[in-house]
Amino acid sequence: MSAPWSLVIHGGAGVQAGRSYLQAEACMSELVGRGAGDLAAGAPALDVVQAMVAALEASGLFVAGRGSAPNALGDVELDASIMDGSDGRAGAVSAIRGFASPVVVARRIMDGSPHVMLTGTGAELFAREQGCEPIVDLATWLTRPDGFDPADLDEGHGTVGAVALDQKGRLAAATSTGGIYGKRPGRVGDTPLIGAGTWADDRVAVSCTGLGEAFIRAAAAHDLSARMRYGGAQLAEAAAQVLESVARLGGDGGLIAVDREGNIARPFDTDGMKCAWRTSAGSQGVESWRA
Ligand code: ASP
Repeated sequence: MSAPWSLVIHGGAGVQAGRSYLQAEACMSELVGRGAGDLAAGAPALDVVQAMVAALEASGLFVAGRGSAPNALGDVELDASIMDGSDGRAGAVSAIRGFASPVVVARRIMDGSPHVMLTGTGAELFAREQGCEPIVDLATWLTRPDGFDPADLDEGHGTVGAVALDQKGRLAAATSTGGIYGKRPGRVGDTPLIGAGTWADDRVAVSCTGLGEAFIRAAAAHDLSARMRYGGAQLAEAAAQVLESVARLGGDGGLIAVDREGNIARPFDTDGMKCAWRTSAGSQGVESWRA
């Protein structure tokens, strides 16, 4: 029997009443099927989470990549991060403009620089040097899914993320966002902050979505791991406790997580969270609204 693997992806906590998420669900189902196939064939968790997040960014169906939310000046500033739990390496980019896939830039920072995070113009310089795909024409690159209503604040929770366990027992997480609609230029949320929006170690991988300011103040993604490592909590219990502490700080949202046994958790305290999952133990599904 082959070793266990698990994959969970999300398209953000927060759903808009009256809007259909069938297109987003179809996209997530297709992607998670592809990622599961790769994990079953022995692919590394790190490559799978990057591929999942890059495809979610490119879909234009979520508030990340092509679906990003313009800031108050009409610019699109993107944040992303990626972490390899097997060796603790991480890469992150914040407030980058002009590049199609911030998660790819984050991976390049991790693999091709001595740094963990680059921001703004410095990140853009690095991405150009690395030959990352530029956005040629922002107006035509940006897309909006059917029924998108920018006036609905819940649309702000459209971050995308992925967590995976591979057959070698390696955990990885990645998260990418176009941020919150109408955000101040230069505003950076939890998504690119290692330990807040993204975390992976030898025990658990986590990707968060929700009101970034509260997730930062709760050190949410790392706190989940700490609750397991130092407090002996099981995955589901630790995940629920993290959302409680985010809520105490005035934030709502959700997270996806996988542990080294392949157990998954996907709690949220919004009306819904777009997500899909598949494990070698036979658990699979796709969901947008609270069941
Ligand atoms: N956490 C993201 C941010 O604050 C937003 C989201 O999850 O949709 O930038």
